[in-house]
Amino acid sequence: MSETLLITGGAGFIGSALIRLLLRESDYRIVNVDKLSYAASPEALEDAPQHPRYRFERVDICDAAALTRVFAEHRPDGVLHLAAESHVDRSIDGPADFIQTNIVGTFRLLEVALGYFQSLDGPARARFRFHHVSTDEVYGSLGEDGLFTETTPYAPNSPYSASKASSDHLVRAWHHTYGLPVVVTNCSNNYGPYQFPEKLIPLMILNALEFKPLPVYGTGANVRDWLYVEDHARALRLVFEHGRIGEQYNIGGHNEQRNLDLVERLCDLIDTLQPDAVGRKRRELITFVEDRKGHDLRYAIDAGKIRRELGWRPRETFDTGLRKTVEWYLANRAWCETVQARGYQRQRLGLARKA
Ligand code: NAD
Repeated sequence: MSETLLITGGAGFIGSALIRLLLRESDYRIVNVDKLSYAASPEALEDAPQHPRYRFERVDICDAAALTRVFAEHRPDGVLHLAAESHVDRSIDGPADFIQTNIVGTFRLLEVALGYFQSLDGPARARFRFHHVSTDEVYGSLGEDGLFTETTPYAPNSPYSASKASSDHLVRAWHHTYGLPVVVTNCSNNYGPYQFPEKLIPLMILNALEFKPLPVYGTGANVRDWLYVEDHARALRLVFEHGRIGEQYNIGGHNEQRNLDLVERLCDLIDTLQPDAVGRKRRELITFVEDRKGHDLRYAIDAGKIRRELGWRPRETFDTGLRKTVEWYLANRAWCETVQARGYQRQRLGLARKA
């Protein structure tokens, strides 16, 4: 019989890409545990809801009783934990939700997963693992040189990265103290289809299409290392299946881009794919705005460990991935309008918090 994976945050950007990949390319049964926050997009699951190997549980990971029921009912062979509050700017404006979901929620999930793990025996116990999905932002900021490795000391600078760093430490402690079999991955910035339009790349694409200003923080000199979301999903599967228990793996595309260069590249690509009738150029829309508080200068990942140990390499180049992404947003304007309207509606009604 096929194994069952419990995936938290599966209605989000990366979780949904992972579920689409696993339903397409594996025989896992999937249980998606998601509270459907403002950032969730059930549409991103495409035809998963009709799939015989897919189940959905609308559950908040802070709710230990509901989690206990889900574990007892679905008897998972492993957990991939992606549920989180994920937007840095929101964490600066309102850190409370980040502390709640990313730290308290991860703690609740670890407690329930540990109790469940301890109740297993034989092959089910040997098979079980808890994969915690995290970010390179836990390492803080690099100067002009150097790369983050798995041994780089943690130095988070934003409420988001501090909450993710805390959750990484909890997962590590549950392994060392209680013997929960864990793996942790720390990935660089993702981009691709179905990313909520508050994040840099979709925000710039949508504004550029509508000839709205393209707000770039500071001088645009901040550097991020971009990875196509499906390449991240493949890396997650590989680490989940073959990573060594208790180990941490960095995931990144060796693809550093200054924010300004990235935005200019997007402008040129959109000008090519959808030229303006009266010849306006999208680069003219770039507007420099006051820098983000505590803005990390540079992130860049050394992905040597996952490459050497597990043979992982990204399939997309930045050219192919970015073109696919822009073409997807051009073809899916209706999705963007739907999630934006729904997100704002949920927030206005306070449903994002209660759900
Ligand atoms: P996302 O914001 O798109 O999705 C998060 C999902 O988690 C949503 O579906 C939301 O409804 C769900 N969720 C939030 N709080 C919850 C709760 N309390 N209980 C249950 N579900 C809840 O995020 P994403 O970009 O897909 O990121 C997924 C994970 O990957 C996060 O842990 C993030 O820290 C990590 N990560 C993201 C990136 C990136 O570039 N997006 C890079 C590296 C790591």
